[in-house]
Amino acid sequence: MLIDYHLHNHFSPDSEADTRKMVARAIEMGMHEICFTNHVETHDKQTGKAVFDPKEARERFKAIKQELDEVQAEFPQVRIKFGAELEYVPEHMEALAQFVADTPFDFILGSVHIVQSVIIASHKFAHQLYQKVGEETAYLAYFELLQKMVAWGHFDAVSHFDINKKAGVQFYGPFQPEKYKDQIRLILYAMKEKEIGLELNTKCINNRCHEIFPHPTILKWALEIGIKHFTLSSDAHKIEDVSQHIQYAFDLAKELGIPSLSTYEKRVPEPHGI
Ligand SMILES: [Zn+2]
Ligand SMILES: [Zn+2]
Repeated sequence: MLIDYHLHNHFSPDSEADTRKMVARAIEMGMHEICFTNHVETHDKQTGKAVFDPKEARERFKAIKQELDEVQAEFPQVRIKFGAELEYVPEHMEALAQFVADTPFDFILGSVHIVQSVIIASHKFAHQLYQKVGEETAYLAYFELLQKMVAWGHFDAVSHFDINKKAGVQFYGPFQPEKYKDQIRLILYAMKEKEIGLELNTKCINNRCHEIFPHPTILKWALEIGIKHFTLSSDAHKIEDVSQHIQYAFDLAKELGIPSLSTYEKRVPEPHGI
C-alpha cells in the first residue's frame, strides 16, 4: 500500500498548490491514501518566529476540511485524510494542544524547523545559525528541541527527523547519525513510550542534502527500539513534487525490515503489512 502522508496545499502559508491537481497527481503516482498536513503556524521570516493565531487557524482548517470533503467526493480512487503539521514552540504548546483536541484531525505531524530563532529548514536562513556555531552546538540544539517536542507529545508522528542536515551538509559535510547516537536513541525511546510514529520523508532526495529523512541508520535504531508506526511522505508543496520517490521509500522500508506502514483515522493508527 502506497501512502503520502505529508502534503501542503494552497492553505499552507508556504504553498499555492491546487488541491485537485495534487490529488490527481497522487493518483497518477499510484497512491492509495494521502494526507494533507498544512502548517498550523506562519513563519515570520524577519524574526524567525512561528506565529500561531488560534482564531485564524480554526477558520482556515475548517475551510481545509470542507474542501477536502468536496475533493474526496470527486476522487473516490484515493482516500484523503485531514491532517496538520505543528511547529514546536514552547510558548504555543498549550494553545496548540487545545487546537488539536478541538479539531477533527486524522493525523498530526510534529516538526522542528526553528533552532535559536533561525529557520534551519530554510536554505535562505539556515546560515544564520550554521555559520555562527559549530556542528555539534547546532545539531545538539536541534535534537534537544525534538526531545522536548516528543515529551510534549500531542501529535502522531515525528516529521523529517534529521532536517538539521538539509542545510547542514553544506556547512559541516555529510551528516553522521552515529555522532549523536545517544541523543537520537533517547528521542526514539521516548517516541516508543508514547507510541509516536516516524515519517520517511523523501523531500530532499533530489536536492539539498540528497538523502531521505531520517538517515537509514536512524530507521534501523527506531526498529530496534520498537517504534511501531511508520509513514511515507513527499512533503510536497508543488504539484510536480507530489509523491515523488514514495516507491523508493517503500522499497527502503521493506529492505530495512519495517514490517508495516500506518494510516490514521481520527488519530488512531492502523498498520498495513508491507
Ligand atoms: Zn516541515
Ligand atoms: Zn511540511
